[in-house]
Amino acid sequence: MEQFYTIQGEGANAGRAAYFIRLGGCDVGCHWCDVKESWDAEAHPKYAIADLVAQASQHPGKAVVITGGEPLMHELGALTRSLHAAGMQTWLETSGAHPLSGEWDWICLSPKKFKAPRPDVLAQAHELKVVVFHKSDFAWAEEHAAQVGPTCRLFLQPEWSKAASITPLLIEYVKQHPRWQVSLQTHKYLDIP
Ligand code: SF4
Repeated sequence: MEQFYTIQGEGANAGRAAYFIRLGGCDVGCHWCDVKESWDAEAHPKYAIADLVAQASQHPGKAVVITGGEPLMHELGALTRSLHAAGMQTWLETSGAHPLSGEWDWICLSPKKFKAPRPDVLAQAHELKVVVFHKSDFAWAEEHAAQVGPTCRLFLQPEWSKAASITPLLIEYVKQHPRWQVSLQTHKYLDIP
């Protein structure tokens, strides 16, 4: 769908330079989705893997974020192997709702209420990032935290349109439950893609 070199804004790798590859196609159906134009994979051009890797390799930062849409609707073995062969790190942003494919240096799983993540993908996540809309979402976050591995890092992120009301609750929750960390969408504050 699109590719661009920027700063990862969220989660464990926030602040690090990375090349983003946004793949078209998503069947999760979040009503608040801010990339609804990604949902129809057929609405976007197809690129050869060699061209994607060549474009990603042109930048000084050697991390590539594969995002979407829901990137796991595609079989990602060939793309991630090619990125690794070119010396790039592979970072995945997924809802976890589809089977895991590909070779990953970092898996960020952000569960969605509209299509539950698969337990086998949750178990392999390096990072669980839960977007919080309402205070009831803290219990929902804990349900997912109970399903990840022992070294998985845990992040709570205020939903952008609710940030003013939910961020104070989120900060207090993290102070009381310090295995969680606050994640902010810093790219939106910085006004970068
Ligand atoms: Fe949008 Fe992501 Fe939800 Fe898909 S999983 S509908 S791309 S927010």
